[in-house]
Amino acid sequence: MDNCIFCKIARGEINSWKVYEDEHTFAFLDISPATEYHTLVIPKAHYVNVLDIPAEVFAKVMQTVKKVVNLYQEKLGLENLQIIHNAGQEGQQDVFHLHIHIVPRYKNDGQSVTLTRQPNWQDKFSDMMKKLN
Ligand code: 5GP
Ligand code: ZN
Repeated sequence: MDNCIFCKIARGEINSWKVYEDEHTFAFLDISPATEYHTLVIPKAHYVNVLDIPAEVFAKVMQTVKKVVNLYQEKLGLENLQIIHNAGQEGQQDVFHLHIHIVPRYKNDGQSVTLTRQPNWQDKFSDMMKKLN
C-alpha cells in the first residue's frame, strides 16, 4: 500500500528502531511507548487486522511475537507483559496495517488496560450461544 506508514516502515522507507526482521515480518519500537520496550510486530505485506489476514501469515506474525518476547526475557529479564491487538475503529485501532503490541509491564509503571466487566450478563449467554450454531 502506497500511503500506509507501516508498509513504509517495513520497506525501510521510514526510519524505525528495528528489533527483529525476517522475510515476512518486522518488529520495531512503538514511537509513542506506553512502557519501556513497547514494541510493534507487523507482517511486511499489508493486511488491516486479524479479520483479513490469512491464518498462515498471522501465525508468522505470532511466531515473531514469541521471538521478541524471548529476546526481551533473555536480554532484559522481562517477566511481565501484555500482548494487545486492536482491530477496527471501535476496537481502538488507529493504524490500519495489522500490528501486535508487545507491552512490557513493570512494577508501578503507572499503566493499566482496564475493561469494565459485566458479570450479571451471564443470563444472556444461552441466547448468545444460539447465534453461533
Ligand atoms: P493502534 O492504536 O492502531 O493499536 O496502535 C498504533 C500504534 O502505532 C500506536 O501505539 C502509535 O504510537 C504507533 N505509531 C504510529 N505511527 C508510528 C510511527 O511512525 N512509527 C512507530 N514506530 N510507531 C508508530
Ligand atoms: Zn500497510
